[in-house]
Amino acid sequence: MVSNEALYLHELEKRWFMVAGEGLVFLTLLVIGIYKTRQSFRKEFQLARQQKNFLLSITHEFKSPLAAVKLNLQTLQKRHLSKDQMEHVLSNAISETDRIDNLVENALMATRIEAKNLDMLLSEMDISACVNNVLTGIRSTTGSEVVIESNIEPDIFILGDILAISSLISNLVENAIKYSTSDTKINVTLATKRNNALLIVADNGIGISDNEKNEIFTKFYRVGNEETRRTKGTGLGLFIVKHIVDLHHGRVEVRDNEPKGTIFEISIPSLKSVI
Ligand code: ADP
Repeated sequence: MVSNEALYLHELEKRWFMVAGEGLVFLTLLVIGIYKTRQSFRKEFQLARQQKNFLLSITHEFKSPLAAVKLNLQTLQKRHLSKDQMEHVLSNAISETDRIDNLVENALMATRIEAKNLDMLLSEMDISACVNNVLTGIRSTTGSEVVIESNIEPDIFILGDILAISSLISNLVENAIKYSTSDTKINVTLATKRNNALLIVADNGIGISDNEKNEIFTKFYRVGNEETRRTKGTGLGLFIVKHIVDLHHGRVEVRDNEPKGTIFEISIPSLKSVI
């Protein structure tokens, strides 16, 4: 027969296990709760910081080209310039206005992406001609120290939105220029590969570390090193590029160039060439 004392001890042990078990469950839930709250605080904090950086940079981005346009106009007003000088001042003012235009375009597009309101007007378009047009525009505004080499296969057609595709190309090429030294060479290639239009933009610039390669497509994200901070930007360009590629059922890849720099590779399904 089991003594009363043994029964009592057994009961006590059972209760102890029960209390310890409940305590353990409670503690686990508490730890998970604290972890999740911390995680969401961190995300909120990061977003708030990125938004603050964005506001600072967009204000700066607007102010500096506006100041440059004003200065150019004041020069025209106050000085008697030769025809050549006048053309130089005017083309400076136009390229600064283009900068403001691109900035507004990117901000509008990012807002429409956020509102899930970025409809693509897809139609058969000649992406070869589009790349050539964008490059002509960029070459006309950059100095002769920036060399953009291009190898564009003619007559590649895709189902695309011409404005969105132009914005994608110009964001990639402008970045390649921005994150390189001024005497660098940029290579732009367009070719067909396995029923895809393949656009490659390669530079020999500052490069992107492996752990940043996935982050750069996030809204407002700018790599946090000194070289990037010295350049102008809002962290919207690649966010827009990624969305445009997705809406065209394409793919974007980023990898290191040799000996240094970055290669962006975009592939978008191509249509049969129209002769
Ligand atoms: P922005 O150029 O306005 O900062 P983007 O969204 O276009 O914003 O790019 C995000 C970040 O990715 C940049 O701030 C920069 O750090 C990095 N990046 C983009 N393109 C390149 C490039 N070709 N070479 C090196 N870094 C780049």
